Amino acid sequence: MDAPQAAARHARAGALVLTATDRPVLVVGAGLAGAVHARVLAEAGRDVHVIDRRPHVAGNAHDEVDATGVRRHVYGPHLFHTNSDRVHAWLLRFTTFLPYEHRVTVRLPDGRGFVPVPVNRATVNTVFGQRLETEAEVAAFLARVAVPVERPRNAAEWLHARVGTTLTDLLFRPYSRKMWGVELEDLDASVVRRVPTRHDDEDRYFPTARHQGMPRDGYTEMVRRMLDHPRIRVETGVAFERAMLREHAFCFASSSIDEWFGYALGPLPYRSIRFHHRTEPARASFGPTVQVNLVEHPTFTRHCDWSLLPGHVVRATGSKTVTHDEPCDVRDNGHERYYPVPDGSGENAALYRRYVALAAAERDVAFVGRCGTYRYLDMDQVVGQSLESAHAWLRGATPAPAAEPRG
Ligand SMILES: Cc1cc2nc3c(=O)[nH]c(=O)nc-3n(C[C@H](O)[C@H](O)[C@H](O)COP(=O)(O)OP(=O)(O)OC[C@H]3O[C@@H](n4cnc5c(N)ncnc54)[C@H](O)[C@@H]3O)c2cc1C
Repeated sequence: MDAPQAAARHARAGALVLTATDRPVLVVGAGLAGAVHARVLAEAGRDVHVIDRRPHVAGNAHDEVDATGVRRHVYGPHLFHTNSDRVHAWLLRFTTFLPYEHRVTVRLPDGRGFVPVPVNRATVNTVFGQRLETEAEVAAFLARVAVPVERPRNAAEWLHARVGTTLTDLLFRPYSRKMWGVELEDLDASVVRRVPTRHDDEDRYFPTARHQGMPRDGYTEMVRRMLDHPRIRVETGVAFERAMLREHAFCFASSSIDEWFGYALGPLPYRSIRFHHRTEPARASFGPTVQVNLVEHPTFTRHCDWSLLPGHVVRATGSKTVTHDEPCDVRDNGHERYYPVPDGSGENAALYRRYVALAAAERDVAFVGRCGTYRYLDMDQVVGQSLESAHAWLRGATPAPAAEPRG
């Protein structure tokens, strides 16, 4: 008896026989990657089953209102910014955005105040006690202190070539040592290449972003609305098991690709962060910006005053939460994977490529999102890639995992 005959017999016997296109699609992870895939597929008429082992949706963008009445991003501050009109327009179906332009300062040692990062005219004047007035003067000053390197081989050389050793050692070295647990010399230049140097007074972190802001009711509510569709079934507190694949036509996995293969080739390194929350009087001030980087503290990289973000004081209680970030190895934080580690030697990228080779033999699975593709991806990139990937799959294309780990 061939398969269609067997199906017909089961059907006559009253058994539910599902063909591949009837069976639901499994989405592992209810973060942005999972939620976008689920919504696109559901709107195209597919049934979708979304699971997440955490007790909530929205993945690392999850937020909640805590006992002080302040909305806190549970896995660290998430600032939405994008140049993609398509991504922005798609998200507007699920939220409106409160205007917010992110700024970051560094608290200097010895009570010398706060300076903006990325480096701008004010940073240079304060750190070096200068009174440079024009962009040309700032550029000329930085050129004098820079240590030219023709082909920077790592993050230290890249920074030295742009801002010299004083600013590198003051603003970047302590941060990066705590953040990545390695010296700048051992870090790939790509990590700092994204950090611009400015010669004017621009102090916005994302000055060129066409759209930026905070979702009016938070990220979790935005994702909950994406998943709110009659064809989508969401189960939180449920971890992926291989047996689930049998009941589903296909699987989009935003879980970590090394975990999928039982770490057969060894674990892909990630950095994680332990968050330390402190309750403070609502009127206390800790700096001029939501995010302040702490160069002096031995373990904390930054603090975040949530109350300074628009719409984040949801109930006035007279108190607020301020959160300090303590980066750590992923093994020291319950395998909460936050940042793929871009090592200078390229070993991690090579290991990821070996997992991609294993994935090529895996049928009916696509690895998506930040951990699926072992890339640092901002939220807008995840949304954009997930829209592409889900639509491509609906058109019949077989998604292949990205070959390169870093975005
Ligand atoms: C500290 C920090 C700050 C950030 N700040 C910003 C920012 O300011 N702006 C910005 O644009 N982006 C920011 N990001 C990036 C943003 O978090 C990601 O782009 C986005 O969350 C990626 O979505 P994702 O769905 O790929 O992954 P995730 O959000 O990590 O979701 C994956 C989900 O899969 C679940 N999962 C994993 N394995 C399994 C399993 N085996 N079974 C069931 N479920 C599983 C996890 O529990 C998780 O909820 C930040 C990230 C971090 C860590």
